[in-house]
Amino acid sequence: MKTSIATVSISGSLSEKLTAIAAAGFDAIEIFENDFLAFDGPPSDVAKMVRDHGLEISLFQPFRDFEGMPGIHRARAFERAERKFDLMQELETDLILVCSNVSPLALGGIDRAADDFAELGEHAAKRGIRIGYEALAWGKHIDDHRDAWEIVRRANHPNIGLIVDSFHTLARQIDPDTIRSIPGDKIFFVQLADAPLIDMDLLHLSRHYRNMPGEGDLDVVAFMRAVAATGYDGVLSLEIFNDQFRGGSPSSISIDGHRSLLALMDQVKREEPDIAIEVPEMPDRVGVSGIEFIEFATTKSEAKQLAKMLTTLKFVEAGQHISKDVSLWRQGDINILINTDTHGFAHTSYINHGTGVCDIGLKVGDAAAAVKRARALGAASFSQSVGPNELDIPAIRGVGGSVIHFIDATTELKNVWDIEFSAGDFRKETGNLISIDHVAQTMRHEEMLTWTLFYTTIFKTLKHPMVDVIDPAGLIRSQVIENNEGSFRLTLNGAENHRTFAGNFLNEHFGSAVQHIAFACDDIFTTAKQLRDNQFEPLKISPNYYDDLDARYGLDEDLMVLLREFHIMYDRDEDGEFFQFYSPNYGEGFFFEIVQRKDNYQGYGAANAQFRIAAQKRGMRARGMPKR
Ligand code: MG
Ligand code: MG
Repeated sequence: MKTSIATVSISGSLSEKLTAIAAAGFDAIEIFENDFLAFDGPPSDVAKMVRDHGLEISLFQPFRDFEGMPGIHRARAFERAERKFDLMQELETDLILVCSNVSPLALGGIDRAADDFAELGEHAAKRGIRIGYEALAWGKHIDDHRDAWEIVRRANHPNIGLIVDSFHTLARQIDPDTIRSIPGDKIFFVQLADAPLIDMDLLHLSRHYRNMPGEGDLDVVAFMRAVAATGYDGVLSLEIFNDQFRGGSPSSISIDGHRSLLALMDQVKREEPDIAIEVPEMPDRVGVSGIEFIEFATTKSEAKQLAKMLTTLKFVEAGQHISKDVSLWRQGDINILINTDTHGFAHTSYINHGTGVCDIGLKVGDAAAAVKRARALGAASFSQSVGPNELDIPAIRGVGGSVIHFIDATTELKNVWDIEFSAGDFRKETGNLISIDHVAQTMRHEEMLTWTLFYTTIFKTLKHPMVDVIDPAGLIRSQVIENNEGSFRLTLNGAENHRTFAGNFLNEHFGSAVQHIAFACDDIFTTAKQLRDNQFEPLKISPNYYDDLDARYGLDEDLMVLLREFHIMYDRDEDGEFFQFYSPNYGEGFFFEIVQRKDNYQGYGAANAQFRIAAQKRGMRARGMPKR
């Protein structure tokens, strides 16, 4: 398969763009005329630069307002085309995109447009140039690929073909299966983009909010299945107009783009096995059955405070690593590691970020396959030296340079605790916490799509619609990623500024990281009492919250008393009830959460988040910490 991306999709000078695009693994670019116009040099220099980066120009665009023009305007349109052809020859590219006419002067008429294209095909043929016609969703007369195809069909010229663009088809809710009746050899080029489902003018949505396949809500898989079923095996090109991407890191956006294309085609190939496009082999998305461990990097002195927090949560120290300064803390199925090594990856993480989560171990079906898929999708590998009698646990890099290890049940990896840890004091009584309910990662808002794409393309997970959480100092965007079984739940929280509670954490931690870990229990009140008796002090929630809760739900008086007493927050939906309380802040805003899900409640108490944040910020100010 041949992958391409439009230069408008990313930021930077043309040279910066080409470097990032080539490094991400693309074969080609679509060049936008503006990129060329802004470039200080002749077109032949552009052609050479593109070649020097190991790329080619798969498409030159756009050519606007061509078909169906009256009188003198028609003649001018043909003259303009000749000048573009000159430029294309210097750029060494042979395919140009003509988008459907939006001019108020355009006359309309399928046959008239077909005649114009037949004539343009003659001019193009003399130069060895091919023309691709694309229906813009907001074209004056042609806004549907089916009508564009009828024009191409009637033009009946070998140099005239169709360009389909997933955005224009899917955003207008045209059934993508209508593409299946178009001959594959008349589809000259395929452009791919996704977009969020926002009710707005299509032109505005297209110019500002497109995103990578898989990042939005359009069924790009269905679109691409239909295209592939025609026998099309040409270039697959991303054409993404997105304000955020145009201000983002060219390399990160390029990597996301390449990952999205590979994951898309892997999915298409699994659903439509007989397609002509050659898709790189990789294992299927990896099922995650839970979180096996969470590892903190810290120092011996700071570890004391962390250990104290875990002790008040009724964890016990259950083992010591055979060669590293790593202690294992356990309760229920939860394994927490505290790494105080003075060398190796964890120490580097401590130097860069301070005390925090540096590593997460995921329980998967096949650990080797998990790494293989992640690597095939461009994830960075991770390994460090393995001591005698230690296991080489497969791993990749995740959010903020942290590490994700994979543990499976079919290999020796399942015995990691027995192999690598001396037995600690298992007889000591632990508490009621059963498992890790969810892990919350905080990041800059601009990074959220990147990490959503990372998790949803590598693992069998799905994303929920983003929700906004109000911090007194700004907005936090929250994205849930979870599996069907609810055994693997992540929340990604995007901070837009550093004055929010999440933003302050990002700032103090020097980058994205886990900000809270939620533990599940079966009986929130017994657990809360047990922890209180164990010197645990919950985050204090304002009495006003409970007055409002009472007004909203009319809860039982006894229940209200308990909620107030233990500072437990409450939520409910049609499927069940949810209880949650929080630890105080640790360090720069890290905290633990304890939850109970009743019946089939699947949420995270989003409605409570702003009151929790307000309480946490009060806690920070009370301790003389920053900053509003
Ligand atoms: Mg397009
Ligand atoms: Mg939470």
